[in-house]
Amino acid sequence: MIRPSEHRPTQAIINLEAMRHNIDWMRQKMNDQQKLFATVKANAYGHGAVPIAKAAISAGCEGLAVATVDEAIELRQSGLSQIPILVLGLTDPQGIAEILHYNITITVSGLDFFEAAYQQLADTKQTRLLDLYKLNFHLALDTGMGRIGLREVAEVEAFAAGIQAYPWAHWQGVFTHFATAGGGPADYIEAQWQRWLDLMEAVPATVDYRHYANSAMGLWHPKLPASDIVRMGISMYGLDPKDQLPSPAWGPDYAVNEADDLQPILELITEIVHVKKVPAGACISYGATYQAREDEWIATLPIGYGDGWLRHYKNLPILVDGHECPVVGVINMDQLMIRLPKHYPVGTIATLIGPDGSFNNHASYLAQQVDTIAYEIVTNLSPRIARVYLNED
Ligand SMILES: *Cc1c(COP(=O)(O)O)cnc(C)c1O
Repeated sequence: MIRPSEHRPTQAIINLEAMRHNIDWMRQKMNDQQKLFATVKANAYGHGAVPIAKAAISAGCEGLAVATVDEAIELRQSGLSQIPILVLGLTDPQGIAEILHYNITITVSGLDFFEAAYQQLADTKQTRLLDLYKLNFHLALDTGMGRIGLREVAEVEAFAAGIQAYPWAHWQGVFTHFATAGGGPADYIEAQWQRWLDLMEAVPATVDYRHYANSAMGLWHPKLPASDIVRMGISMYGLDPKDQLPSPAWGPDYAVNEADDLQPILELITEIVHVKKVPAGACISYGATYQAREDEWIATLPIGYGDGWLRHYKNLPILVDGHECPVVGVINMDQLMIRLPKHYPVGTIATLIGPDGSFNNHASYLAQQVDTIAYEIVTNLSPRIARVYLNED
């Protein structure tokens, strides 16, 4: 067993071979003209931004997508100097010098950005940067997500006219985001698609990339004319956007998607660091809310809400040697306690996410128990959890 820390056994084991498989799976649904961007925002959904970005690029992804300029800079500083990096969220024009310097492609929602960015450069006597660098940007279009972007044809027309005043800005792409590709009324997709087509009429032919596909659109709606870029997020990590499970093994209550062969790339494990037999009546954890009913074997695991294993996850079973073990008492910041079916020694592995024996704590299964989505469970895994990467090439 690889132990990234000599001091604490809690670790996320991330299988890059499985990630390459998921990327190949998406690639099969795409044509040769489409580009695949790996979405690595929020620390690559908790998987570790830099190692995931590097592995995605060596698996053939043509670009990276992040949420913020700070995330983009972190990637540039890690040595990824050439690959296109698209920031999907909106950005403060104050940071224009760094955006240019690091060659980061930004998203704008209107013309205001350019005026304010120019002013910032003028105020700081840096307008000569505009002779050295070009600002690549994509325009967001709001076709029904209601988040960012222009909504009306007239607004896009006005943008197309107004952007002429900023020859240092290169209008490279337009994109939108579908609200219901991963669940919700199906006809909403049709309505958004129609909106997209309408808005496209106002986009000049010189704009190269027109893209709308996240995982769900890439996997399930390939009938629509191809998205020039597929912004692959959750499916790259092997999770289904709708939390469908990969087989019926979890029981009749769970939606299943056997058609898409997505392999979860992350397992979260730790080890028992303390074990004891307590007598009936002994209380466990803060608030003394749990009381042993009989003599019980109680083990302590070094993981808690400070690692992103939230108090709300109290009812999720933890797997030890093929047994489901309940958490007893409340989850602490750094530790939690479980009840074992029998004695297991210190050093025994406990699985929080991943398979063990006949059980499988699939992130999508766990998410449904605690009323959330797998995106949120993995993204919450804090930097304190050591990450171990298997099958780096
Ligand atoms: C996060 C995000 C994605 C990736 O979505 P997944 O569902 O994880 O594939 C794509 N596009 C935009 C605009 C996003 O914000």
